[in-house]
Amino acid sequence: MTAEPPDRHRFLIGSANPGKLREYREILAGLDVELVSPAELDPVPPEPREDADTFAANATAKARAYSLASGLATIADDSGLEVYALRGAPGIRSRRFFGEDATAHERNERLLAMLEGVEDRSARFVCVTALASPDGHVELFEGEVHGEMAEAPRGEGGFGYDPIFVIAGDGRTMAELSAEEKHRISHRGLAGAKLRSRLASGWPA
Ligand code: IMP
Repeated sequence: MTAEPPDRHRFLIGSANPGKLREYREILAGLDVELVSPAELDPVPPEPREDADTFAANATAKARAYSLASGLATIADDSGLEVYALRGAPGIRSRRFFGEDATAHERNERLLAMLEGVEDRSARFVCVTALASPDGHVELFEGEVHGEMAEAPRGEGGFGYDPIFVIAGDGRTMAELSAEEKHRISHRGLAGAKLRSRLASGWPA
């Protein structure tokens, strides 16, 4: 009996974060690919651990683990917010920095409280997106966007730290942009544009 060839048009988006899932669907819209989330698979693949110490290593580990568990080519990113005055925190710990159970609103309030009175508010969002095939082949795509921490949250769009990140040279927070505007300039949008070109060029051939 021969094994089924992998479906070249079906990709798993390896994330349990609804904001990321939505953004990858938007960024990759119009490509000849089917995108599925972990929750749509049976069995649902377990969420991989994130214990490496760089965005690239975490993205690679997540994409590889999801791809192995599902048998599907997988897109997974590791991303986060680096605040210079906090020596790069929350950084790779962006999701867990204030505990697993904190809401986005609580995280934003607590991060701004840590920055009360701090003059240098510069920060950047970083995203490393990994594309992995079940045979272990991985390619990485990176993006970053510079800005500074707001004094108070503003805007309803996006997710996570978006309401407290003011885009350099723009003045609006990331949460004040439309989805299309966010993808044009954001860390994930820039990494995603590179991923998009790679998929359009016929990956993995
Ligand atoms: P990860 O799942 O470990 O990559 O966690 C990424 C975390 O970084 C998210 O849970 C957010 O807290 C934060 N983050 C990453 N990208 C964004 C973004 O585009 N907007 C706001 N927060 C983000």
